[in-house]
Amino acid sequence: MDLPARHHILDDELIVSWLARLCRTGAFFNERLARKELIGIEKVRLHPYLTSHLKCISSSTNQNPQALIMKHTLYPLFWWCGLDSELRLKESMLEDNGGQTIILAGLPQSKLHFFAGLKFCPSCVSESRGIHGFGYFKTFHHIPGIEACSDHHCLLHGLSSGDYGYDRQLPLPPSNTQAVEATCFQIGLAKFAKAFLQQSCDETEPLDYRNIYKKELLGLGLVTRFQRVRISKLTEAILEFYTALEFGGELGFPKGLADFNFLGPLLRGKTHFCCHPTKHILFVFWLCSAAGKSLFELVNARSWTTKRKRIRADVDVKLVKKAIGEAAVPSSERITNAIEKIKELVETNPSWRRKEIKEVLNADFFYLYHHAPSILEEILPDKEPPSHPDKDWLLEDDRIYSEILKIDNFEDLSLSKIDGLVKGRGFILKSLKELPRTACLLRHLRKLHK
Ligand SMILES: [Zn+2]
Repeated sequence: MDLPARHHILDDELIVSWLARLCRTGAFFNERLARKELIGIEKVRLHPYLTSHLKCISSSTNQNPQALIMKHTLYPLFWWCGLDSELRLKESMLEDNGGQTIILAGLPQSKLHFFAGLKFCPSCVSESRGIHGFGYFKTFHHIPGIEACSDHHCLLHGLSSGDYGYDRQLPLPPSNTQAVEATCFQIGLAKFAKAFLQQSCDETEPLDYRNIYKKELLGLGLVTRFQRVRISKLTEAILEFYTALEFGGELGFPKGLADFNFLGPLLRGKTHFCCHPTKHILFVFWLCSAAGKSLFELVNARSWTTKRKRIRADVDVKLVKKAIGEAAVPSSERITNAIEKIKELVETNPSWRRKEIKEVLNADFFYLYHHAPSILEEILPDKEPPSHPDKDWLLEDDRIYSEILKIDNFEDLSLSKIDGLVKGRGFILKSLKELPRTACLLRHLRKLHK
């Protein structure tokens, strides 16, 4: 059906909010029949921000399904944070996978108990009633953990629903709630989260967060020279930053996030796994503050990295090198080959030390040394403690013996003074038994009594 203008979905409106409005003003007898006509199923539960059945809904209302998913759900947030690399979550939202959507988004697996339901700002509702004649639920209010309205600086209210937010009911926000002022920190975080969501909607590729975060942490001195993130120091800084925020509130961030133990899996190389978008928001909010950068500046840095990679795919490396005036962009294929060769050599020669590996695969060794030092460190055998080569005491004895003979007027000199004059490094005092010729000479010169 073609919808009259007053029934169009608003720019920042959740799909379930729009459907609720259609049910009340679209001449449907009741919600059950509305669902039957719009989705084709009478008994269907919809998620507030990861809504599925979008193909059905869009075809019955002549909407573009891509526009619905990108503008009126939180799908872009999950996709941008790397949680839908195979686009299975998107497919699940467009179709119906019998409740698979939240599993594909990793909600139950994350074990984070965010508020399940719909959130609204009393001032937004009041303002919208004045402009449109109705209140509605806004997409950006539903970013998990966000408690404040960034536009009106007041606390959000919640309408609870079923597990993980799934519900058959399609409510609209009430108009009889009072606005309560939020804290500055809650407001700042809400503004940042809204900007983060907006950025995710504008992007064409998932966030290259592992490189971006590492680069910023490096600048903050929170990465070791072996490319490892200093997690405990970082956690300490973040905990101090978030002292003003209360965890465990009904609509806010769950207590499980308060210790920031998720930083390891988010940032480490070996134990990394994709994390819930809220973890990214909490981390990047601190990161921008610590680095004195805006989210826009972080994303621009990413764009430049991506641009360099794209250039390399199409143009000769030497031309790129000349164009950007720095070392050529490393080749992922070359890195992969070098890793495989070194790993194979290490496995087939378990007794070999790093030195032997370097000698046999010198070019591969130094390619990784320059372009992927952390990977090289991981695949090489463990470092051996430094060992000093055996000292040639005979040679040293002869040298010291000859040097002593060059000294004039040594009658008044102490042994330590003689040691200093011959650059003995304390050997005359501590290792004389290794220096028989020198000992004999000193006895002869009456500097030693036995
Ligand atoms: Zn508001």
